[in-house]
Amino acid sequence: MTAQILDGKALGQKLRADFRQRAERLASQDARPGLAVILVGDDPASQVYVRNKVDACAQTGFYSERHVYSANVEAQTVFARIAELNADPKIHGILVQLPLPRHFDADAVLEAIAPDKDVDGFRAENLGALTRGRPCFIPCTPHGVMKFFEEAGIPIKGREAVVVGRSNIVGKPMALLLMHAGATVTVCHSQTRDLKAHCRRADILVVAVGKAKMITGDMIKPGAVVIDVGMNRLEDGKLCGDVDFASAKDLAAFITPVPGGVGPMTITMLLANTLESAERAANAGANLWRS
Ligand code: NDP
Repeated sequence: MTAQILDGKALGQKLRADFRQRAERLASQDARPGLAVILVGDDPASQVYVRNKVDACAQTGFYSERHVYSANVEAQTVFARIAELNADPKIHGILVQLPLPRHFDADAVLEAIAPDKDVDGFRAENLGALTRGRPCFIPCTPHGVMKFFEEAGIPIKGREAVVVGRSNIVGKPMALLLMHAGATVTVCHSQTRDLKAHCRRADILVVAVGKAKMITGDMIKPGAVVIDVGMNRLEDGKLCGDVDFASAKDLAAFITPVPGGVGPMTITMLLANTLESAERAANAGANLWRS
């Protein structure tokens, strides 16, 4: 078997074409979707992610702002900027690029973002709402993964799903979304005994660890759907995932490549959340006008 590739670039472009039209409609009502991205420090990977997000906004007809600070900026300066952006009607989404320098309390920074502009969906309140099944925004990476399933018609109900990684931004929300969609979910992490045995049971395997090629073909159930969230930079500068693509692709029924799989979908779902936020704001404004 050779796996069908789940192409994040192609699916992202298809979704973004629809977003562009919706953004133009909002712009004609003077309500163009707007995203503000805050970057602290000079981590090269973060700089690339921020540039990609800002470029994606421009290509989709969104307004965007980039606020860049040196690593030794005082936390108060960043909090003050977030407060301004919370009150700015041009801005519908605020994203703080992680990781932040050590002297920042990242949770406190994320909590400072207004709930209706938390387009990453990382605030505790939003994660709690996601646990209940009614989030304000679905975190972008797992949201993008669910779009792959939807687009490819991959059934979830009743299937065994294994998520490797339990971070607040990927593993946990991914597990919750799969559970809400009807899968029986197992979450593995660094303390898991016999990771291979868990992975081998998975009809749907989502890997978000950050260790290059750690999931090899012998850990994959024939016919599984394999989603590789990992992004690792090899010594030769190339990007690779957490899954050993070469050995996995002959066993899986579907697989995401790295690059070109989950990464572009994460940015696409950031646009989706920003657009949704702008549409909610426009509707709220229209309702206020009517009442
Ligand atoms: P974190 O470092 O926050 O979490 C990693 C998780 O992997 C932890 O839960 C950890 O377990 C677990 N883990 C570590 N070692 C093992 C092991 N040997 N076996 C099983 N589990 C293990 O990472 P993130 O969730 O933020 O990101 C994961 C990867 O996804 C990274 O490569 C990141 O770059 C990438 N990423 C990609 C995105 C995209 O758009 N494509 C978006 C976000 C992230 P424990 O909790 O016990 O420590």
